[in-house]
Amino acid sequence: MGVVRMCVGCRQREATSSLLRCVVEGVRVVPDVSRTIPGRGAWVHPQQRCVTAALKREAFPRALKRSRGLDVSTIEAFFTKENRLNG
Ligand SMILES: [Zn+2]
Repeated sequence: MGVVRMCVGCRQREATSSLLRCVVEGVRVVPDVSRTIPGRGAWVHPQQRCVTAALKREAFPRALKRSRGLDVSTIEAFFTKENRLNG
């Protein structure tokens, strides 16, 4: 199954190949689609509901060890866009 990580949204364990890696750049949480950005990552299912749940629980700052001031608008916009494309 390869490397397994917990989704910060639904907290189920999943192969990293099925999850989106998110990292911090400055104060911004950004998707690491290529999975090459060094540093701590937060993993989430690439689904609106998992991202929404993660944002609601402030799981990104917790997973990324940043207590405050994280800008999650890039992640929100990323999934809004994906949703539009799929819908
Ligand atoms: Zn999930």
